[in-house]
Amino acid sequence: MNKWHIVVDLEKCVGCYNCLMACKDEFVDNDWPPYTRKQQKHDDKWINPVRHERGCAPRTDVCFVTKLCQHCENAPCAKAAPGAVTKRPDGVVLLDVYKAKGNPDLVKACPFGAIQWNEELKVAQKCTMCAHLLDGGWQEPRCVQACPIRALSVVNCSDEDWEALSNRENLESLYPGSHRPKVRYKNLYRYNKCFIAGAAAYDDHGTETAATNARATIKKDGVMLETMYVDFLGEFKFDKLPPDSGVYTIEVDMPGFKKAVQEVELGKDSPDIGVMMLERD
Ligand code: SF4
Ligand code: SF4
Repeated sequence: MNKWHIVVDLEKCVGCYNCLMACKDEFVDNDWPPYTRKQQKHDDKWINPVRHERGCAPRTDVCFVTKLCQHCENAPCAKAAPGAVTKRPDGVVLLDVYKAKGNPDLVKACPFGAIQWNEELKVAQKCTMCAHLLDGGWQEPRCVQACPIRALSVVNCSDEDWEALSNRENLESLYPGSHRPKVRYKNLYRYNKCFIAGAAAYDDHGTETAATNARATIKKDGVMLETMYVDFLGEFKFDKLPPDSGVYTIEVDMPGFKKAVQEVELGKDSPDIGVMMLERD
């Protein structure tokens, strides 16, 4: 049987919060028995675009990581709270509303923080993937329908096709582990990888001037990883580097100038190595 999946694209999401508002519109003040009780107006976020910043001023990069229940195939919550969690044949993971009532410990059953406690109704709750709508013939949940630029998309397919699509499109799990999420992320490097940024300039009769014809190259252990021409401000950025991955060499060259070389040790953050000044030959 085909299962429901969601793809979240970090390069597309602009942090408009339409998905969160659509979720609120669907569930605040609305009971959907037997799927879920109504959501609290303010305290809960069953889907949540979380702002993530890399780098340091002036060379920063901001993205939004939309977090929601991952509808795991090997769901840790189902193992931690047997009987209180239903894994449907179509892949949707639901909490039993009766067993979730008066059971705040259920919140701890999800290692990813997807289960929340509704203090008003004293019930544990989470994203249902709008199962009440899917069962009524909808082809996507409200959050996906509300996303104006398709940063969220639905895929209804077999386990095999989902794995093939994940490999082909480089879809990644937001959290490490063997839980086999049915929510996967495209361009997750904006969240889990680092970049090295900088600029090239030269001295033009006492004025620091952007070296707009320069080429920047990144090497590791003497092997070239990437080379690029700098932009109109003389800036470069090498992205998708694993955190804590050791020492990199940045080289900048431009016709008529000596090559400038700088070594950078990459830790957990994305460094701005500043301006590399080129000297004339
Ligand atoms: S993300 Fe958490 S609540 Fe959702 S299925 Fe996985 S373990 Fe369960
Ligand atoms: S609606 Fe789409 S673009 Fe807007 S925050 Fe949600 S995922 Fe991002």
